[in-house]
Amino acid sequence: MPVPVIILLCALGALALLCAVCAVRAARMKKTLPDTPAAVTWTDEEADKYAKDLSEMVKLATVSRKQEDSFEDFLVFQKKLEELFPLFFSQAENHDISGNILRKLPGKDPKRGALLLMGHQDVVPAEGQSGWEKPPFSGEIENGCVWGRGAMDCKSTVCCELEAVEALLREGFTFNEDLWFFSARNEENSGGGSDAAAAWMKEQGIRLNVVLDEGGAVVMDMFPGLKAPASGVGVVEKGYVNLRFTARSAGGHASTPPKNSPIARLSKFVAEAEKKNVFKQKMVSPVPEMFAAISPYLPFYFRFVLGNLWLFKGLVTRLLPAISPMAGAFVQTTAAFTMSGGSEAPNVLPDKAWIVCNMRPSVHQNADESIAALKKLADKYDIETEVLYKKDASAVTDVNGAEFRFLTECIEKCLPDTVVTPYMMTGGTDSRRFEIVCDNVLRFTPTRLTPQQLAAMHAANENIGVEALAEGVKTYKYYIERYNSR
Ligand SMILES: [Zn+2]
Repeated sequence: MPVPVIILLCALGALALLCAVCAVRAARMKKTLPDTPAAVTWTDEEADKYAKDLSEMVKLATVSRKQEDSFEDFLVFQKKLEELFPLFFSQAENHDISGNILRKLPGKDPKRGALLLMGHQDVVPAEGQSGWEKPPFSGEIENGCVWGRGAMDCKSTVCCELEAVEALLREGFTFNEDLWFFSARNEENSGGGSDAAAAWMKEQGIRLNVVLDEGGAVVMDMFPGLKAPASGVGVVEKGYVNLRFTARSAGGHASTPPKNSPIARLSKFVAEAEKKNVFKQKMVSPVPEMFAAISPYLPFYFRFVLGNLWLFKGLVTRLLPAISPMAGAFVQTTAAFTMSGGSEAPNVLPDKAWIVCNMRPSVHQNADESIAALKKLADKYDIETEVLYKKDASAVTDVNGAEFRFLTECIEKCLPDTVVTPYMMTGGTDSRRFEIVCDNVLRFTPTRLTPQQLAAMHAANENIGVEALAEGVKTYKYYIERYNSR
């Protein structure tokens, strides 16, 4: 037999063997979710109570604003919390940080460590948003849901956490570890409450075992082909950068336009930036772990590829951006051009035109490296790059660590019909500020959200299900109880 034929046959044989190995692995990893009942239950009366409490919280419009003139409305909201959760607020030490709630419920054995529960009090504005079917601060309870701005983001988190702690106090539960509660009044505008609280904790020499904040939730359609709901626990947040690109010219009259005007150069730059990806694509933790968690529940063809990342990692990394913008954001820095401006009149050539870009640097290509990649392209069109704001990605919580695994086990017990997975957050929360006092920052609220509810975040008709709320309260309670008894 000629040598080239032998090589070809060997190559085909090796390929067939690889395919067979991948197929066997994909077949073996298939799992179905257990048919066990959830470890938590609740009564209609309990669910009604939680919904009414959340409704009271939504009715108080604690809208985030840049001006720091007064925060009277937040103090009114805090009085309401004291009324709704009297045991917690009378027993927890008050370490108020300028209107940001910081409380500590002392544990019997504080040497064991401490748990911090978080959720912000402020909400984004609703004014000027069309499509609200009910007044945004009505807090109406209708069709099994609590409606209004903040019903989901993030007063439901605050409500579930405090209901759980209050119920434990009512039952006379012994907290072994210190339990901290922090609620910023300026999370939505990055107002610095969480920075101040974390810095204060560090100054006091406080170390936390776990920080549990908003972030992931129980959602449908997390990944194409995943039929079960997913409980996504955020273990990292991408960075955040704002850039302004400015193109200049001598200006002049619009009746005699020269070539390569500022707007033409900016347009070419934006078009090329969108077409030709300038950022590094790489799959880093927690993305492989996320695929490991969800692959067993995906159809065979997805399992074949995603369940064999040892072979297909490079291919998958390149293909993800084609699947969806969200999937693409998992493996690279993203850049969105969001604002622009030029001349003040239609018949005047601009002497300068500008465009603003919002960038979310990845874990593997930090803010400076991502900025440099885009600046190189801007330079090609004689465009200036100005950094308005920059922040790198957060630290990545160890998904093989004891705290992530413990939370996962609790979710699996309370929400057994869901696939629990770590994930990379493309948006931000307050919790990353506490990295200076904690290695295990976890972002998850155990409430089920429909696609409509997810889409209503920061938009019209924000709402949350009454049953979802009750399930959330009971899951937090289960977690805190087990956490203190382990
Ligand atoms: Zn939020």
